[in-house]
Amino acid sequence: MKDRTSWTNWAGNQSCAPTSIRRPTCEADLVAIVTEAARAGTRVKCVGAGHSFTPIACTDGVLVDLAKYGRVVGHDPGARTVTVQAGISLATLSDELDQRGLALENMGDISQQSIAGATATGTHGTGWHFGNISSRIVGLRLIAGDGSILSATAEENPGVFAAARVGLGALGIVSTVTIQAVKAFRLHAIEEPRRVDEILTDFDGYMSSADHVEFYWVPHTGWALTKRNRRTDEPAVPRRKAKEFLDDLLITNVGFGALCRIGRRQPSLIPRLAKILPSTGRMEYTDRSDRVFTSPRRVKFYEMEYAIDRDAIPEALNRVRALVDEAGIQLSFPVEVRVVAPDDIPLSTAEGRATGYIAVHVYQGTPYDAYFQGVERIMGSYGGRPHWGKMHFQGYESLATRYPRWDEFQAVRSQLDPEGRFTNQYLDRVLGPLTT
Ligand SMILES: Cc1cc2nc3c(=O)[nH]c(=O)nc-3n(C[C@H](O)[C@H](O)[C@H](O)COP(=O)(O)OP(=O)(O)OC[C@H]3O[C@@H](n4cnc5c(N)ncnc54)[C@H](O)[C@@H]3O)c2cc1C
Repeated sequence: MKDRTSWTNWAGNQSCAPTSIRRPTCEADLVAIVTEAARAGTRVKCVGAGHSFTPIACTDGVLVDLAKYGRVVGHDPGARTVTVQAGISLATLSDELDQRGLALENMGDISQQSIAGATATGTHGTGWHFGNISSRIVGLRLIAGDGSILSATAEENPGVFAAARVGLGALGIVSTVTIQAVKAFRLHAIEEPRRVDEILTDFDGYMSSADHVEFYWVPHTGWALTKRNRRTDEPAVPRRKAKEFLDDLLITNVGFGALCRIGRRQPSLIPRLAKILPSTGRMEYTDRSDRVFTSPRRVKFYEMEYAIDRDAIPEALNRVRALVDEAGIQLSFPVEVRVVAPDDIPLSTAEGRATGYIAVHVYQGTPYDAYFQGVERIMGSYGGRPHWGKMHFQGYESLATRYPRWDEFQAVRSQLDPEGRFTNQYLDRVLGPLTT
Protein backbone atom coordinates (compact mmCIF):
# COMPACT_ATOMS: atom_id res chain seq x y z
CA MET A 1 0.00 0.00 0.00
CA LYS A 2 1.17 3.60 -0.72
CA ASP A 3 2.90 5.27 2.24
CA ARG A 4 3.40 1.89 3.86
CA THR A 5 6.83 0.78 4.81
CA SER A 6 8.01 -2.63 5.97
CA TRP A 7 9.90 -4.21 8.82
CA THR A 8 11.37 -7.72 9.30
CA ASN A 9 12.88 -9.34 12.40
CA TRP A 10 16.38 -10.84 12.72
CA ALA A 11 15.30 -14.40 12.00
CA GLY A 12 13.36 -13.28 8.92
CA ASN A 13 10.20 -15.13 9.99
CA GLN A 14 8.13 -12.08 11.03
CA SER A 15 7.39 -8.94 9.09
CA CYS A 16 4.85 -6.16 9.15
CA ALA A 17 3.79 -3.02 7.30
CA PRO A 18 3.71 -0.11 9.75
CA THR A 19 2.06 3.16 8.70
CA SER A 20 5.34 4.92 9.55
CA ILE A 21 8.63 4.30 11.32
CA ARG A 22 9.76 6.93 13.84
CA ARG A 23 13.27 7.28 15.27
CA PRO A 24 13.09 9.32 18.49
CA THR A 25 16.20 10.82 20.10
CA CYS A 26 14.74 12.10 23.39
CA GLU A 27 11.92 11.41 25.82
CA ALA A 28 9.90 14.38 24.53
CA ASP A 29 9.84 12.65 21.11
CA LEU A 30 8.38 9.53 22.72
CA VAL A 31 5.64 11.56 24.40
CA ALA A 32 4.88 13.33 21.12
CA ILE A 33 4.63 10.02 19.23
CA VAL A 34 2.16 8.59 21.77
CA THR A 35 0.00 11.73 22.00
CA GLU A 36 -0.17 12.04 18.22
CA ALA A 37 -1.15 8.36 17.95
CA ALA A 38 -3.78 8.83 20.68
CA ARG A 39 -5.22 11.75 18.75
CA ALA A 40 -5.20 9.82 15.45
CA GLY A 41 -6.47 6.61 17.05
CA THR A 42 -3.53 4.53 15.76
CA ARG A 43 -1.46 1.90 17.49
CA VAL A 44 2.17 2.31 18.50
CA LYS A 45 4.86 -0.36 18.93
CA CYS A 46 8.48 -0.04 19.94
CA VAL A 47 11.11 -2.21 18.41
CA GLY A 48 14.47 -2.93 19.98
CA ALA A 49 16.87 -5.04 17.94
CA GLY A 50 14.14 -7.19 16.36
CA HIS A 51 15.64 -10.34 17.91
CA SER A 52 12.34 -11.87 18.97
CA PHE A 53 11.17 -14.86 16.96
CA THR A 54 7.50 -14.10 17.69
CA PRO A 55 5.61 -11.19 16.06
CA ILE A 56 5.73 -9.40 19.44
CA ALA A 57 7.32 -6.27 17.92
CA CYS A 58 5.10 -6.12 14.81
CA THR A 59 2.51 -3.41 14.23
CA ASP A 60 -0.01 -2.11 11.72
CA GLY A 61 0.44 1.36 13.25
CA VAL A 62 3.48 3.46 14.13
CA LEU A 63 6.73 1.54 14.64
CA VAL A 64 9.11 3.26 17.04
CA ASP A 65 12.71 2.32 16.31
CA LEU A 66 14.89 3.10 19.34
CA ALA A 67 18.27 2.76 17.62
CA LYS A 68 19.00 6.46 18.24
CA TYR A 69 17.82 6.43 21.83
CA GLY A 70 20.56 4.56 23.64
CA ARG A 71 22.70 6.72 25.91
CA VAL A 72 23.67 6.38 29.56
CA VAL A 73 21.86 9.18 31.39
CA GLY A 74 22.78 8.48 35.02
CA HIS A 75 25.30 6.65 37.20
CA ASP A 76 25.29 6.26 40.98
CA PRO A 77 28.74 4.86 41.85
CA GLY A 78 27.79 4.21 45.51
CA ALA A 79 24.72 2.18 44.60
CA ARG A 80 26.35 0.66 41.47
CA THR A 81 23.35 1.59 39.35
CA VAL A 82 23.16 3.09 35.88
CA THR A 83 20.19 4.69 34.16
CA VAL A 84 20.02 4.21 30.40
CA GLN A 85 17.75 5.12 27.53
CA ALA A 86 15.63 2.17 26.46
CA GLY A 87 17.30 1.53 23.09
CA ILE A 88 20.85 0.92 24.34
CA SER A 89 22.16 -2.47 23.22
CA LEU A 90 23.44 -4.91 25.83
CA ALA A 91 26.82 -4.75 24.04
CA THR A 92 27.08 -0.95 24.37
CA LEU A 93 25.74 -1.13 27.91
CA SER A 94 28.43 -3.69 28.81
CA ASP A 95 31.14 -1.37 27.45
CA GLU A 96 29.68 1.63 29.30
CA LEU A 97 29.50 -0.38 32.52
CA ASP A 98 33.05 -1.65 32.11
CA GLN A 99 34.33 1.92 31.78
CA ARG A 100 32.75 2.55 35.21
CA GLY A 101 34.21 -0.62 36.78
CA LEU A 102 30.81 -2.35 36.57
CA ALA A 103 29.08 -5.19 34.72
CA LEU A 104 25.68 -6.81 34.25
CA GLU A 105 25.28 -9.56 36.81
CA ASN A 106 24.19 -12.16 34.26
CA MET A 107 23.57 -12.28 30.50
CA GLY A 108 22.15 -14.59 27.83
CA ASP A 109 23.91 -15.87 24.71
CA ILE A 110 24.10 -12.66 22.71
CA SER A 111 24.44 -8.91 23.32
CA GLN A 112 22.63 -7.42 20.30
CA GLN A 113 19.29 -6.90 22.08
CA SER A 114 18.22 -3.52 23.44
CA ILE A 115 17.80 -3.32 27.20
CA ALA A 116 14.07 -2.57 26.90
CA GLY A 117 13.49 -5.33 24.34
CA ALA A 118 15.48 -7.89 26.31
CA THR A 119 13.71 -7.17 29.58
CA ALA A 120 10.23 -6.87 27.98
CA THR A 121 10.36 -10.60 27.17
CA GLY A 122 12.22 -11.82 30.28
CA THR A 123 15.54 -12.51 28.55
CA HIS A 124 17.78 -14.66 30.74
CA GLY A 125 21.10 -16.44 30.89
CA THR A 126 21.92 -19.32 33.19
CA GLY A 127 22.94 -19.57 36.84
CA TRP A 128 21.63 -21.53 39.82
CA HIS A 129 21.77 -18.44 42.05
CA PHE A 130 21.20 -15.73 39.42
CA GLY A 131 17.97 -14.25 38.05
CA ASN A 132 17.09 -12.90 34.62
CA ILE A 133 18.03 -9.39 33.44
CA SER A 134 14.62 -7.93 34.38
CA SER A 135 15.18 -8.94 38.00
CA ARG A 136 18.06 -6.42 38.09
CA ILE A 137 15.84 -3.45 37.16
CA VAL A 138 15.47 -1.08 40.12
CA GLY A 139 13.61 1.75 38.38
CA LEU A 140 12.07 2.78 35.09
CA ARG A 141 10.20 5.60 33.35
CA LEU A 142 7.35 4.77 31.06
CA ILE A 143 5.02 6.68 28.70
CA ALA A 144 1.44 5.47 29.23
CA GLY A 145 -1.32 5.32 26.59
CA ASP A 146 -2.44 8.91 27.22
CA GLY A 147 1.11 10.26 26.82
CA SER A 148 1.73 10.78 30.54
CA ILE A 149 5.14 9.92 32.01
CA LEU A 150 5.32 7.61 35.01
CA SER A 151 8.30 6.80 37.25
CA ALA A 152 8.25 3.42 38.93
CA THR A 153 10.41 1.80 41.60
CA ALA A 154 9.69 -0.67 44.42
CA GLU A 155 8.46 2.35 46.44
CA GLU A 156 6.92 4.63 43.80
CA ASN A 157 4.07 3.08 41.76
CA PRO A 158 5.03 -0.41 43.03
CA GLY A 159 2.31 -2.20 41.05
CA VAL A 160 3.53 -0.69 37.79
CA PHE A 161 7.14 -1.42 38.74
CA ALA A 162 6.37 -5.08 39.48
CA ALA A 163 4.63 -5.65 36.15
CA ALA A 164 6.64 -3.43 33.80
CA ARG A 165 9.94 -5.24 34.38
CA VAL A 166 8.59 -7.95 32.02
CA GLY A 167 5.97 -5.84 30.25
CA LEU A 168 5.91 -7.45 26.76
CA GLY A 169 5.71 -3.90 25.41
CA ALA A 170 2.04 -3.97 26.43
CA LEU A 171 2.11 -1.40 29.22
CA GLY A 172 3.60 1.61 27.47
CA ILE A 173 6.86 2.83 26.01
CA VAL A 174 9.68 2.28 28.47
CA SER A 175 11.79 5.42 28.25
CA THR A 176 14.65 4.78 30.68
CA VAL A 177 15.68 1.83 32.79
CA THR A 178 17.78 1.89 35.96
CA ILE A 179 19.81 -1.28 36.33
CA GLN A 180 21.49 -2.70 39.41
CA ALA A 181 24.97 -3.58 38.18
CA VAL A 182 27.76 -5.40 40.03
CA LYS A 183 31.50 -4.80 40.32
CA ALA A 184 33.17 -5.74 37.03
CA PHE A 185 34.31 -9.37 37.02
CA ARG A 186 35.80 -11.96 34.75
CA LEU A 187 34.59 -15.47 34.02
CA HIS A 188 36.72 -18.57 33.88
CA ALA A 189 35.11 -20.79 31.27
CA ILE A 190 35.38 -24.53 30.71
CA GLU A 191 33.73 -25.81 27.55
CA GLU A 192 33.78 -29.54 26.91
CA PRO A 193 31.65 -32.43 25.66
CA ARG A 194 30.11 -34.71 28.33
CA ARG A 195 27.77 -37.70 28.24
CA VAL A 196 24.25 -36.35 28.63
CA ASP A 197 23.16 -39.27 30.84
CA GLU A 198 25.94 -38.45 33.30
CA ILE A 199 24.69 -34.86 33.57
CA LEU A 200 21.07 -35.89 34.04
CA THR A 201 21.92 -38.47 36.74
CA ASP A 202 23.17 -35.66 38.99
CA PHE A 203 21.47 -32.67 37.36
CA ASP A 204 21.43 -30.47 40.49
CA GLY A 205 25.07 -31.24 41.26
CA TYR A 206 26.16 -30.50 37.71
CA MET A 207 24.13 -27.34 37.22
CA SER A 208 25.39 -25.91 40.52
CA SER A 209 29.01 -27.00 39.96
CA ALA A 210 29.91 -23.47 38.76
CA ASP A 211 28.18 -20.08 38.85
CA HIS A 212 26.77 -20.30 35.32
CA VAL A 213 26.27 -23.73 33.79
CA GLU A 214 24.48 -24.67 30.58
CA PHE A 215 24.59 -27.56 28.17
CA TYR A 216 23.43 -28.43 24.68
CA TRP A 217 22.28 -31.98 24.04
CA VAL A 218 23.35 -32.96 20.52
CA PRO A 219 20.43 -34.88 18.96
CA HIS A 220 21.19 -38.31 17.50
CA THR A 221 24.09 -38.69 19.95
CA GLY A 222 24.50 -39.35 23.69
CA TRP A 223 26.63 -36.21 23.97
CA ALA A 224 26.15 -32.74 25.35
CA LEU A 225 28.36 -29.71 24.72
CA THR A 226 28.75 -28.09 28.14
CA LYS A 227 29.77 -24.60 29.29
CA ARG A 228 30.68 -23.89 32.90
CA ASN A 229 31.58 -20.33 33.89
CA ARG A 230 33.06 -19.42 37.28
CA ARG A 231 33.15 -15.79 38.44
CA THR A 232 36.72 -14.70 39.19
CA ASP A 233 39.13 -11.79 39.56
CA GLU A 234 41.96 -13.81 38.02
CA PRO A 235 43.69 -12.10 35.06
CA ALA A 236 42.21 -12.58 31.60
CA VAL A 237 43.54 -15.45 29.48
CA PRO A 238 41.32 -15.07 26.40
CA ARG A 239 40.58 -17.89 24.01
CA ARG A 240 43.40 -18.55 21.60
CA LYS A 241 42.63 -16.78 18.34
CA ALA A 242 42.91 -20.01 16.38
CA LYS A 243 40.48 -21.74 18.68
CA GLU A 244 38.16 -18.74 18.66
CA PHE A 245 38.15 -18.86 14.90
CA LEU A 246 37.38 -22.55 14.94
CA ASP A 247 34.65 -22.24 17.52
CA ASP A 248 32.91 -19.14 16.21
CA LEU A 249 33.37 -19.63 12.52
CA LEU A 250 33.41 -23.35 12.10
CA ILE A 251 31.20 -24.64 14.86
CA THR A 252 28.66 -22.05 15.99
CA ASN A 253 28.65 -20.09 12.79
CA VAL A 254 29.86 -20.41 9.23
CA GLY A 255 30.96 -24.06 9.22
CA PHE A 256 27.97 -25.02 11.31
CA GLY A 257 25.79 -23.12 8.86
CA ALA A 258 27.20 -25.22 6.04
CA LEU A 259 26.39 -28.39 7.97
CA CYS A 260 22.88 -27.09 8.58
CA ARG A 261 22.37 -26.33 4.91
CA ILE A 262 23.48 -29.86 3.98
CA GLY A 263 21.12 -31.21 6.67
CA ARG A 264 18.20 -29.15 5.40
CA ARG A 265 18.72 -30.44 1.85
CA GLN A 266 19.34 -34.03 2.92
CA PRO A 267 17.92 -34.71 6.40
CA SER A 268 19.05 -38.35 6.34
CA LEU A 269 22.67 -37.13 6.64
CA ILE A 270 21.95 -35.29 9.88
CA PRO A 271 22.71 -38.10 12.36
CA ARG A 272 26.16 -38.49 10.76
CA LEU A 273 26.74 -34.72 10.77
CA ALA A 274 25.70 -34.56 14.42
CA LYS A 275 28.59 -36.84 15.38
CA ILE A 276 31.02 -34.11 14.27
CA LEU A 277 29.82 -31.65 16.90
CA PRO A 278 30.93 -33.34 20.13
CA SER A 279 34.46 -33.87 18.87
CA THR A 280 35.28 -30.20 19.45
CA GLY A 281 37.50 -30.95 22.46
CA ARG A 282 37.96 -29.09 25.73
CA MET A 283 38.61 -25.36 25.96
CA GLU A 284 39.46 -23.18 28.99
CA TYR A 285 39.81 -19.42 29.08
CA THR A 286 39.20 -16.37 31.25
CA ASP A 287 37.84 -13.07 29.99
CA ARG A 288 35.65 -10.04 30.73
CA SER A 289 32.25 -11.34 31.82
CA ASP A 290 30.19 -10.16 28.84
CA ARG A 291 32.74 -11.59 26.39
CA VAL A 292 32.31 -15.02 27.96
CA PHE A 293 28.55 -14.88 28.46
CA THR A 294 27.84 -13.83 24.88
CA SER A 295 29.09 -14.62 21.38
CA PRO A 296 28.08 -13.70 17.82
CA ARG A 297 25.41 -15.84 16.14
CA ARG A 298 25.84 -15.73 12.39
CA VAL A 299 23.78 -18.79 11.56
CA LYS A 300 20.09 -17.90 11.55
CA PHE A 301 17.56 -20.20 13.17
CA TYR A 302 14.08 -20.39 14.69
CA GLU A 303 13.72 -21.14 18.39
CA MET A 304 11.16 -22.13 20.99
CA GLU A 305 12.07 -22.14 24.70
CA TYR A 306 10.05 -23.34 27.67
CA ALA A 307 10.44 -22.62 31.38
CA ILE A 308 9.47 -25.38 33.78
CA ASP A 309 10.18 -26.29 37.39
CA ARG A 310 13.92 -26.90 37.63
CA ASP A 311 13.41 -30.32 39.27
CA ALA A 312 11.43 -31.52 36.24
CA ILE A 313 14.21 -30.88 33.70
CA PRO A 314 15.89 -34.33 33.66
CA GLU A 315 12.59 -36.13 33.05
CA ALA A 316 11.39 -33.53 30.53
CA LEU A 317 14.65 -33.62 28.57
CA ASN A 318 14.53 -37.42 28.43
CA ARG A 319 11.00 -37.15 27.04
CA VAL A 320 12.26 -34.71 24.37
CA ARG A 321 15.06 -37.17 23.52
CA ALA A 322 12.51 -39.98 23.20
CA LEU A 323 10.28 -37.79 21.01
CA VAL A 324 13.14 -37.02 18.62
CA ASP A 325 14.07 -40.72 18.37
CA GLU A 326 10.54 -42.11 18.13
CA ALA A 327 9.23 -39.52 15.68
CA GLY A 328 12.41 -39.78 13.57
CA ILE A 329 12.92 -36.00 13.59
CA GLN A 330 16.24 -35.10 11.97
CA LEU A 331 17.84 -32.21 13.85
CA SER A 332 21.03 -30.31 13.13
CA PHE A 333 20.66 -27.85 16.03
CA PRO A 334 21.33 -28.87 19.64
CA VAL A 335 18.77 -28.61 22.48
CA GLU A 336 19.85 -26.06 25.08
CA VAL A 337 19.34 -26.42 28.85
CA ARG A 338 19.75 -23.59 31.36
CA VAL A 339 18.62 -22.70 34.90
CA VAL A 340 17.81 -19.45 36.72
CA ALA A 341 16.80 -18.38 40.22
CA PRO A 342 13.14 -17.52 40.93
CA ASP A 343 11.92 -13.91 40.80
CA ASP A 344 8.86 -11.88 41.78
CA ILE A 345 7.83 -10.39 38.40
CA PRO A 346 4.21 -11.26 37.46
CA LEU A 347 4.84 -12.36 33.86
CA SER A 348 8.44 -13.51 34.19
CA THR A 349 8.83 -17.12 33.09
CA ALA A 350 10.77 -17.64 36.36
CA GLU A 351 8.12 -16.04 38.59
CA GLY A 352 7.83 -17.83 41.91
CA ARG A 353 9.83 -20.93 41.06
CA ALA A 354 13.40 -22.11 40.61
CA THR A 355 13.34 -22.53 36.86
CA GLY A 356 14.92 -24.72 34.23
CA TYR A 357 14.73 -23.93 30.51
CA ILE A 358 14.67 -26.25 27.52
CA ALA A 359 15.19 -24.53 24.17
CA VAL A 360 14.76 -26.17 20.78
CA HIS A 361 16.02 -24.73 17.50
CA VAL A 362 15.87 -25.45 13.80
CA TYR A 363 17.94 -23.95 11.03
CA GLN A 364 16.24 -21.02 9.27
CA GLY A 365 13.83 -22.24 6.60
CA THR A 366 13.42 -25.74 8.09
CA PRO A 367 9.84 -26.89 8.89
CA TYR A 368 9.41 -26.93 12.68
CA ASP A 369 5.71 -27.39 13.48
CA ALA A 370 5.77 -31.11 14.29
CA TYR A 371 8.94 -30.86 16.40
CA PHE A 372 8.03 -27.68 18.29
CA GLN A 373 4.43 -28.78 18.88
CA GLY A 374 5.61 -32.18 20.14
CA VAL A 375 8.02 -30.50 22.57
CA GLU A 376 5.34 -27.99 23.57
CA ARG A 377 2.97 -30.85 24.52
CA ILE A 378 5.66 -32.24 26.82
CA MET A 379 6.30 -28.81 28.37
CA GLY A 380 2.56 -28.26 28.82
CA SER A 381 2.39 -31.27 31.12
CA TYR A 382 4.77 -29.41 33.48
CA GLY A 383 2.81 -26.13 33.37
CA GLY A 384 5.51 -24.80 31.02
CA ARG A 385 5.75 -21.09 30.31
CA PRO A 386 6.98 -20.17 26.83
CA HIS A 387 9.59 -17.44 26.38
CA TRP A 388 7.60 -14.37 25.23
CA GLY A 389 10.09 -13.61 22.48
CA LYS A 390 10.42 -17.18 21.14
CA MET A 391 8.03 -19.27 19.10
CA HIS A 392 5.12 -21.12 20.69
CA PHE A 393 1.51 -21.96 19.96
CA GLN A 394 -0.24 -20.86 23.17
CA GLY A 395 -3.00 -18.30 23.72
CA TYR A 396 -4.10 -16.32 26.75
CA GLU A 397 -6.60 -18.94 28.01
CA SER A 398 -3.87 -21.50 28.70
CA LEU A 399 -1.20 -18.96 29.64
CA ALA A 400 -3.37 -17.32 32.31
CA THR A 401 -3.46 -20.62 34.23
CA ARG A 402 0.34 -20.80 34.29
CA TYR A 403 0.93 -17.41 35.90
CA PRO A 404 -0.48 -17.03 39.45
CA ARG A 405 -0.12 -13.22 39.21
CA TRP A 406 -1.76 -12.89 35.78
CA ASP A 407 -4.61 -10.64 37.02
CA GLU A 408 -2.13 -8.22 38.61
CA PHE A 409 -0.51 -7.70 35.22
CA GLN A 410 -3.87 -7.27 33.50
CA ALA A 411 -4.94 -4.66 36.06
CA VAL A 412 -1.82 -2.59 35.34
CA ARG A 413 -2.39 -3.02 31.60
CA SER A 414 -5.96 -1.72 31.88
CA GLN A 415 -4.74 1.20 33.99
CA LEU A 416 -1.91 2.27 31.65
CA ASP A 417 -3.32 1.35 28.26
CA PRO A 418 -7.14 1.28 28.48
CA GLU A 419 -7.50 1.90 24.73
CA GLY A 420 -5.06 -0.77 23.57
CA ARG A 421 -2.65 1.76 22.07
CA PHE A 422 0.32 -0.63 22.52
CA THR A 423 -1.28 -3.89 21.58
CA ASN A 424 -0.83 -5.93 18.38
CA GLN A 425 -2.03 -9.27 17.04
CA TYR A 426 0.48 -11.26 19.09
CA LEU A 427 -0.41 -9.48 22.32
CA ASP A 428 -4.12 -9.94 21.57
CA ARG A 429 -3.39 -13.65 21.27
CA VAL A 430 -1.22 -14.10 24.38
CA LEU A 431 -2.73 -11.49 26.71
CA GLY A 432 -6.31 -11.46 25.47
CA PRO A 433 -8.70 -8.54 25.35
CA LEU A 434 -8.22 -5.61 27.71
CA THR A 435 -10.27 -5.97 30.89
CA THR A 436 -12.03 -2.88 32.25
C1 LIG B 1 20.37 -15.14 18.20
C2 LIG B 1 19.46 -14.93 19.38
C3 LIG B 1 19.91 -15.31 20.64
C4 LIG B 1 19.06 -15.13 21.75
N1 LIG B 1 19.53 -15.51 22.98
C5 LIG B 1 18.70 -15.41 24.06
C6 LIG B 1 19.13 -15.82 25.35
O1 LIG B 1 20.27 -16.24 25.55
N2 LIG B 1 18.25 -15.73 26.37
C7 LIG B 1 16.96 -15.28 26.20
O2 LIG B 1 16.19 -15.26 27.17
N3 LIG B 1 16.54 -14.83 24.99
C8 LIG B 1 17.38 -14.89 23.94
N4 LIG B 1 16.94 -14.46 22.70
C9 LIG B 1 15.62 -13.80 22.62
C10 LIG B 1 15.76 -12.29 22.79
O3 LIG B 1 16.59 -11.94 23.88
C11 LIG B 1 14.40 -11.64 23.06
O4 LIG B 1 13.49 -11.98 22.07
C12 LIG B 1 14.48 -10.12 23.21
O5 LIG B 1 13.20 -9.64 23.52
C13 LIG B 1 15.00 -9.41 21.97
O6 LIG B 1 15.32 -8.08 22.28
P1 LIG B 1 15.14 -6.95 21.18
O7 LIG B 1 15.81 -5.72 21.67
O8 LIG B 1 15.52 -7.46 19.88
O9 LIG B 1 13.56 -6.73 21.30
P2 LIG B 1 12.46 -6.80 20.13
O10 LIG B 1 12.38 -8.22 19.66
O11 LIG B 1 12.71 -5.76 19.15
O12 LIG B 1 11.15 -6.45 20.97
C14 LIG B 1 10.70 -7.31 21.99
C15 LIG B 1 9.55 -6.63 22.74
O13 LIG B 1 10.06 -5.51 23.48
C16 LIG B 1 9.25 -4.39 23.22
N5 LIG B 1 10.01 -3.18 23.40
C17 LIG B 1 11.21 -2.84 22.87
N6 LIG B 1 11.57 -1.62 23.31
C18 LIG B 1 10.58 -1.19 24.12
C19 LIG B 1 10.36 -0.03 24.88
N7 LIG B 1 11.23 0.97 24.90
N8 LIG B 1 9.23 0.08 25.60
C20 LIG B 1 8.31 -0.91 25.61
N9 LIG B 1 8.47 -2.05 24.92
C21 LIG B 1 9.60 -2.18 24.19
C22 LIG B 1 8.77 -4.60 21.79
O14 LIG B 1 7.64 -3.81 21.50
C23 LIG B 1 8.44 -6.06 21.84
O15 LIG B 1 7.20 -6.23 22.47
C24 LIG B 1 17.76 -14.58 21.58
C25 LIG B 1 17.32 -14.21 20.31
C26 LIG B 1 18.16 -14.38 19.21
C27 LIG B 1 17.68 -13.99 17.85
